[in-house]
Amino acid sequence: MADQEKTFRFVIVGGGIAGVTCVEQLSSQIPSAEVALITAGPQIKAVTNYKQVSKTLEEFDVEERPSSVLEEKFPNLTVIHSAVKSLHTQSHASSLFCILSINIINSFGARPKLLTQDNPYVLGIRDTDSAQEFQKRLANAKRIVVVGNGGIALELVFEVEGCEVIWAVKDKAIGNTFFDPGAAQFLIPSLETNKPERPAPCKRTRYTTEEPAPGGSQTFTADRNARGDGSGPTGVGSALGPDWHEGIVLRGAEQVSRRVSLEYQCEVKKIFTSEELLNSPQQTLRPENERSWPVYIQLTNGKTFGCDFVVSATGVVPNTEPFLHGNKFELADDGGLQVDDHMMTSEPDVYAAGDVCTASWQHSQLWQQMRLWTQARQMGWYTGRCMAAHVLSEPIELDFCFELFTHITKFFNYKVVLLGKFNGQGLGPDQELLVRCTKGQEYVKVVLRGGRMVGAVLIGETDLEETFENLILNQMDLTPYGEELLNPNIDIEDYFD
Ligand code: FAD
Repeated sequence: MADQEKTFRFVIVGGGIAGVTCVEQLSSQIPSAEVALITAGPQIKAVTNYKQVSKTLEEFDVEERPSSVLEEKFPNLTVIHSAVKSLHTQSHASSLFCILSINIINSFGARPKLLTQDNPYVLGIRDTDSAQEFQKRLANAKRIVVVGNGGIALELVFEVEGCEVIWAVKDKAIGNTFFDPGAAQFLIPSLETNKPERPAPCKRTRYTTEEPAPGGSQTFTADRNARGDGSGPTGVGSALGPDWHEGIVLRGAEQVSRRVSLEYQCEVKKIFTSEELLNSPQQTLRPENERSWPVYIQLTNGKTFGCDFVVSATGVVPNTEPFLHGNKFELADDGGLQVDDHMMTSEPDVYAAGDVCTASWQHSQLWQQMRLWTQARQMGWYTGRCMAAHVLSEPIELDFCFELFTHITKFFNYKVVLLGKFNGQGLGPDQELLVRCTKGQEYVKVVLRGGRMVGAVLIGETDLEETFENLILNQMDLTPYGEELLNPNIDIEDYFD
């Protein structure tokens, strides 16, 4: 029977981490159910090397794989490589395939929030294809402008070599999605070093700890020769994962290793080509633009930079479009499909997980949604369980992973662990911060409310994550310990054992 005529019990749309994890969970729980995975891409994303680090912290790699790997593992699974154009929730059928399904999960992901659409000089980075396009264009580039201050911009700016990078951020400090200005200052010296194999013992400090003035700038240069071996990056071929750039050589056309100039507290005012520039005599160019560039970007701080291309790393928007027509999905303010604590959308029997959805239940006081790999996996897994429970008429409670926000990642070669309300999100003035910082080694910040730990940022090999996770989860009153909590001479693990 052709796929077009087949009937499935479950249809999952999207072969990203959320969709694939959901398929795995559903297929393991109800092996007899016919499952279809419809995905636009030629490959699926798989979670590998999964490691439960502590109660809620997890680490894993992400690999792109052929879908046959999944089909071999689950005989009742059919993977259909095609883009869904519309969804008919009322008839439980998709116009494209006439699939009759009881439950449909959308794990459709998100698309880049581009500064401007259809400008050939503006690139968004989202998937393998766009990352490869970026790599190709970078190879001939002498200067690029990166706009944005989230995780993608942070990684990009750090990874690019052989090309001047102008980095425009709208905030007072870098990485404010993840960090406070203190952590940003801790990380910034890394921008003036070459990419070391391991943290460099000595760094030339050419930054100031003063907050930059609005529209102010900082420049960091790392001379490629300073590495000593003169070699380029060596990492090749690994699959796209949380360290998505590791498989790709991000090298421009210049000899310099890294040269980053920061423009703070500014946004993009206008992007124009060299022809447009010639036709607008009122444009006053800065000295760095004396040569001709294919594209120019004018910032709200009054500066104009010429460059080879602009990278728009201004975040993503949930990719809900194909589902909206003819349906009554409730959307959250951020554009995601609202889901309840069973991951169900406002359309009966239609679930959503991952970047496409917005968790609209009453969150635990220590959890918030962030569109990250960890949450895509957790949501996909939990949604699979909810769908199975629905079909089997079993009760199910919100999973423990939604109790506490946790994320492990790497920025600027440092291990970064984020716990709970790590940036004091939503706490207002009702918070106290404790900070310990050893330059070039570690940055530890603890957020306390009413003497109890509600969040932490751990940068470097602090080894504190498990203890702090426990202290956050058990909400112990830490008032008697005061600042001793971060005393490096106290073995805190033993202390609270
Ligand atoms: P996606 O992985 O986006 O999957 C969506 C799927 O839907 C894809 O398979 C796509 O082909 C399919 N699809 C799309 N449209 C259709 C259609 N019309 N019909 C059928 N199928 C369709 N998070 C981290 O935790 N750590 C990181 O280091 C990190 N780095 C990132 C770097 C970059 C460059 C980007 C863009 C994101 C990064 N993220 C990172 C965020 C992370 O990638 C996402 O949160 C996660 O991939 C979301 O998973 P998902 O399954 O919801 O969506």
